[in-house]
Amino acid sequence: MNQFRADLHCHTTCSDGTLNPQEVVKLAKDIGLKGLSITDHDTIDAYATAVAAAQEHDIKLISGVEFSAAYKEISVHILGYCFPFKSELILEFCKKHQARRVERNRAILEQLTKIGLPISNEELSEYSPKAIGSIGRPHIAYAMLKKGYVPTLQDAFKSYLSEGMPAYVSGNLFSVEETIDLLHRAGGIAIIAHPHLLKGEGIIPTLLKMPFDGIEAYYAKFYPYHNQRWLNIAKKKDWIVTGGSDFHGETKENATLGSSWVNDETFNLLWKKQNS
Ligand code: AMP
Ligand code: ZN
Ligand code: FE
Ligand code: FE
Repeated sequence: MNQFRADLHCHTTCSDGTLNPQEVVKLAKDIGLKGLSITDHDTIDAYATAVAAAQEHDIKLISGVEFSAAYKEISVHILGYCFPFKSELILEFCKKHQARRVERNRAILEQLTKIGLPISNEELSEYSPKAIGSIGRPHIAYAMLKKGYVPTLQDAFKSYLSEGMPAYVSGNLFSVEETIDLLHRAGGIAIIAHPHLLKGEGIIPTLLKMPFDGIEAYYAKFYPYHNQRWLNIAKKKDWIVTGGSDFHGETKENATLGSSWVNDETFNLLWKKQNS
């Protein structure tokens, strides 16, 4: 396929993906993508190796990250793009997120122990051997599976780790406003990630009043008619419309790399911003 396609949402072993950054870039090349952004949860460590890999494979790479944030108690994922690959501001913010994750994982494991499903820190590391960065609920779910506590990863989320379940801990999240502001100060843009997955309709009008730059209307799991609502909003607000697969590798089989993408018109907007 010769059409320009760029996937702007995927994860590596730096967070909860199962391929390392070089492998993701190589896969992008193999499936014919021309552009890519890696958006690991709360870390930009992938770019330490992805930048050179992208040069080698002639893939246009845009910096990216997916920050977990909260509006009141509601979890909101925010995609950031187009900041310098080694942005000190972003790196500093990621460090704070890593500290938050250590504390939160400790609290989740404590909850699991209370309900008779103990997992030690050593076991968590042992069962996430490929993970080299942001450790989170998917790694804990995997350890639960390996320990025989649940029959599938989905069950670990459904029965224990999802919001409202006995081992759910939100952790001390940064606010949506703080996260947008940080991305702007770092020279980047802030995009509402997978708006289809936001919990509670009530939050959408609130988010639309915030200084976001765009919205992720194209997302692997959703059909075109789902997207129209977000496309209409983007048009009205003159926002950028982004898209991506949310590829995680083996752990999320229905989201293959390149299954959602943007064309060259959108990509070039970001490319210019990244390189200005
Ligand atoms: P965390 O950043 O630790 O809160 O984990 C969030 C990640 O967990 C998401 O990005 C997904 O990859 C994964 N996740 C969330 N909910 C589910 C679910 N119901 N089933 C499988 N994976 C999930
Ligand atoms: Zn994830
Ligand atoms: Fe997300
Ligand atoms: Fe994601």
